[in-house]
Amino acid sequence: MKEFFRKIIEIYRPFKKVMATIFFFMICSQVLMLVSPYIYGKIIDGIISGAEMKKIIVLALVTLVAHVLSNIVGYLQGRCEINRLEFDVRQHVSKQTLEKMFSFSVGQHNNQNSGVKQSVINKGEHSLTTLAHTILYEISPIIISIVVTISALFYLSLILGAVTLTGVGCFVGISIYLNRNIKDELKDIENMVHDNEKVRSEILRNMELVQINAQEKKVTGEYDKGLGKIARFGKTMWTRFLLFACVRNLTIGITRFLIIIIGAYYVYKGVYTAGYLVIFLSWSANAFGRLNSVGNLHRRCMELYISVKKYFVMLDIEPEVKIIPNPVRVDGLDGRIEFKNVSFKYPVRNYLGDDEVKPPSQNDHVALSDVSFTIQSGQRVAFVGQSGAGKSTLTHLILRSYDPDDGQIVIDENDLRILDLKHYRESIGLVEQSVTLFDETLRYNIVFGLNGRGIDVTNDELGEIASMSCIDKFYDRLEDGFDTVIGEKGVKLSGGERQRVGIARALMKAPKILIFDEATSSLDTENEALIKESIENASRGRTTIIIAHRLSTIKDVDKIFVMEKGKIVGEGKHDELLETCEVYKNLVSNQVTTI
Ligand code: ADP
Repeated sequence: MKEFFRKIIEIYRPFKKVMATIFFFMICSQVLMLVSPYIYGKIIDGIISGAEMKKIIVLALVTLVAHVLSNIVGYLQGRCEINRLEFDVRQHVSKQTLEKMFSFSVGQHNNQNSGVKQSVINKGEHSLTTLAHTILYEISPIIISIVVTISALFYLSLILGAVTLTGVGCFVGISIYLNRNIKDELKDIENMVHDNEKVRSEILRNMELVQINAQEKKVTGEYDKGLGKIARFGKTMWTRFLLFACVRNLTIGITRFLIIIIGAYYVYKGVYTAGYLVIFLSWSANAFGRLNSVGNLHRRCMELYISVKKYFVMLDIEPEVKIIPNPVRVDGLDGRIEFKNVSFKYPVRNYLGDDEVKPPSQNDHVALSDVSFTIQSGQRVAFVGQSGAGKSTLTHLILRSYDPDDGQIVIDENDLRILDLKHYRESIGLVEQSVTLFDETLRYNIVFGLNGRGIDVTNDELGEIASMSCIDKFYDRLEDGFDTVIGEKGVKLSGGERQRVGIARALMKAPKILIFDEATSSLDTENEALIKESIENASRGRTTIIIAHRLSTIKDVDKIFVMEKGKIVGEGKHDELLETCEVYKNLVSNQVTTI
């Protein structure tokens, strides 16, 4: 809990001045709230003792002044909230979350369910801003009002102050007990909600698959069953909570009862006037009236607390790929790549919806084992091997999505771990089997990888890239040329066309290293020929790595590496390998299905 509040304070630190101002206004307004009941008491005493009407009017004027001042304070406080907190906090929190998400390695993102990630972030950010709002504007005024009232009561009567303090103490004690009692169940509910969110995001992601297989009823039923379970669990838990809360609220009634009795006793004894009894009762009504609403507030805060805690757990995850201070920035990379005895196992991580961050554990399955090779600058090489041999893992390591467990990757003359990662990645173009497109224009999608540039790329430059990547073969179909929206809501592109946009995006960066990860594996022969042509165009003068399923795309490369079970089992030209490498020979003879 201490750690939790430390983090909340950390997030809100940039707003400490504005918060302090708001607190100041709140205290002012609470003190002003005590003025009117005090004056009412004095007016009653005045009337009983036969004071002049003039005096009563002066006293009434004081309540009017208190009311006006209270309004002015409320206005100033509201302005502070709107100008600084209302919008700025959300902006600050959202930006921080994205920055944190980008500090995770690509590998850390890859094995997380995007639906759960989104749910944790959305709920967390919303709850964080709401929680702070609730603490500041709903809980703080209650606490301030109670503290001010108890202090004022102590000032007027030691015994009434003590009774109120005891009543409030009991109220707080029962609340803490309630929290403890229900915290674990709340966590269970939150976990159920996250699991169900995952189910829903999977359904939404695979809508087409569900419809084609006519499984709408089944998946809707599964989701609904999950929701039903959450509802049953939640209803039972909150009903029990409300029952406890009712018992807790009894302390308020008992305390007010005692104030009446003790106050009246002192009035009878002549210690206080009747006006004082009015003051005591009005003050305690003001302070305790607010405590009555704490039941719902308490419940809301606990729900928010659990969501924010999950969000904090996610933000606490350590980035696995560590960036050293003052990394080496190599301008004009040559593009030489050397693997020295590299071994790698994929880490097993706990998933983002979990309650605590556990360090990733080691997977037993070796993805790469003692792999060594050198690719000279400007060379065109291919990696072949059966599915699961470790080819894509190599590209992940070259892109530094993960760091190897053993061995070293050297780029030009430097260990990859000491390079400025962002700068290094600017020199790499990657074309994957399934090219991700933004729901934006063709221009946006092509220039996406450019740093700082983009809008100023001329149509001539784009045209050149388009012809290298064979986009010109479908360009005429696009009504607004490079400004045609492609992707989800725009013109639909075929697999081969998407590939070519991917190649254009990679080429636009004028990369020193180009990687094609199974770029042709899902294409028909015609598209494959086009992609092959674009790969040939694109790879001139660049270190090019082709991971290929089809032999036709790699026959002419400078060197082929053959992989099996995470090891390199052969290297050389196509003809040499046919003579020397049994694995390659088998791949070739089965090429229709495997390479
Ligand atoms: P290829 O590209 O040759 O088909 P990969 O490099 O994708 O092979 O996979 C090598 C091995 O690593 C396989 O056994 C695969 O199951 C495993 N693997 C790949 N990606 C992951 C991952 N994200 N987490 C755990 N294991 C993985």
